[in-house]
Amino acid sequence: MKKYQHLYGPVPSRRLGRSLGIDLVPHKICTYDCIYCQIGKTTQKTWVREEYISVNEILEEIERFLKEEASSIDYLSLGGSGEPTLHSGIGRLIRGIKAITSIPVAVITNGALFYEQSVRDDLLMADVVLPSMDAVSRDVFEKINRPNPSFSPERMVEGLVEFRKVFNGQIWLEILFCKGVNDHPGELLRMKEAIDQIRPDQIHINTVVRPPSEKWATPLSQKEMEKIKEFFGEKAILIPEFDRHSFVLAGRDMEEEILNILRRRPLSLNDLSKGMDIPVEELESHVQLLIQKRTIKARSFGGSIFYEVEKEIERS
Ligand code: SF4
Repeated sequence: MKKYQHLYGPVPSRRLGRSLGIDLVPHKICTYDCIYCQIGKTTQKTWVREEYISVNEILEEIERFLKEEASSIDYLSLGGSGEPTLHSGIGRLIRGIKAITSIPVAVITNGALFYEQSVRDDLLMADVVLPSMDAVSRDVFEKINRPNPSFSPERMVEGLVEFRKVFNGQIWLEILFCKGVNDHPGELLRMKEAIDQIRPDQIHINTVVRPPSEKWATPLSQKEMEKIKEFFGEKAILIPEFDRHSFVLAGRDMEEEILNILRRRPLSLNDLSKGMDIPVEELESHVQLLIQKRTIKARSFGGSIFYEVEKEIERS
């Protein structure tokens, strides 16, 4: 029996320090089906908000984790295996978290539903919101994010602008670049205009660093990333790896931990090592064992070996 069904981590992250991840929707329910998604293809593309997982159940796990685990946490981050704002109880959950701990709450979201007042209201008590905005032109938006047809980039930008007007916390806007898809000068210019309206506190520039959902989603070079960073000005920072969907869980059943992490997205041995805070040498034998059992497999991408779940094992 897994110790926590809805928590993973804490994971070390440049942006959020040591962050405990909280899954709000089952894998993989999302408003988008991004070509670069690290956690696989969207199996349920929807805009319908529901209480996919009981808020009380999640709160009970968080409370138990905070009591039982000695590790210090910098952020509780809502994100995980899909789009967290699809959870209709996210506002109640954030308020519940605030009632039991002073650890700041971060929400990692694609921002697609921000045009709904109820979603904006739900996130008001968060400390940091990290929305993504990979495109502002309709054709580029459709190509990279493959949204549910009811979404438009105009509505997404409008929603973010409205949220900025009422939200007092930090907004860190993330843009993930795929070569030849959303990196042309015209799109960059339009993004900059949108950013001027949204007024985020930071702009996080990212690219494809893990095996993507589509093989043709390829990364920009470091030099290209630097140029884009310069173009966006002083609020822009490059984020190296991690973060769009942070990972890892607590507990020390090594094989189960590794599987739980890899169910969320493919990772290299080094990533696993950093996330689990366990030396590579110690992890290697467990990874090899899982390969022998054919529960995970190796896949080469960008000169590195990533491991991913081969077949879904029964979740207890
Ligand atoms: S990257 Fe995020 S927004 Fe895009 S499909 Fe994956 S889970 Fe959804």
